[in-house]
Amino acid sequence: MFEGEIIPEKLREQNTVPNQDSGLYVCLECRYPLNGLGSTVCPECNRKFDPQDPATMIQYLKDPVRIFRCQSTLAAQVVSVLEDAGFAAMIQHMRTGMIGFVEGSDAYILVDRSDAAGAVQVLESEHEEGVELDAWECPECGEPNDAGFEICWNCEGSHPDL
Ligand SMILES: [Zn+2]
Ligand SMILES: [Zn+2]
Repeated sequence: MFEGEIIPEKLREQNTVPNQDSGLYVCLECRYPLNGLGSTVCPECNRKFDPQDPATMIQYLKDPVRIFRCQSTLAAQVVSVLEDAGFAAMIQHMRTGMIGFVEGSDAYILVDRSDAAGAVQVLESEHEEGVELDAWECPECGEPNDAGFEICWNCEGSHPDL
């Protein structure tokens, strides 16, 4: 399902996100990422916060590590799959290092170090499902379906292998 690259465990060990020693913080009100904004007002909802005072923010990731690299257009989808599986996840723009959704370049997916192994498992299983879906013929109505379709485009019949 996801085009992208799982960052190997060895690399992950050393791959703490630079300059985020005390973790990644989000807005108390709207959960907008607040690290590195150079401002004391949330750009999304205008709630005030104090970068020096952790009590004015939510610490979303304590010890962020990069586990996945993908196109930034896919990153939000990857994060929502991880969140559905119970893992807090954030996006880091590869070129600028900015936290949060930015279009136009590759992105890293960040999770807490303690969640990294479990989160990678979730992404690996998504990978496998995607790779195995070749073009197929619907057993219900006989229509040919292109690779990547999970249900028949014609009759919404299910894939024989799913
Ligand atoms: Zn906010
Ligand atoms: Zn069909």
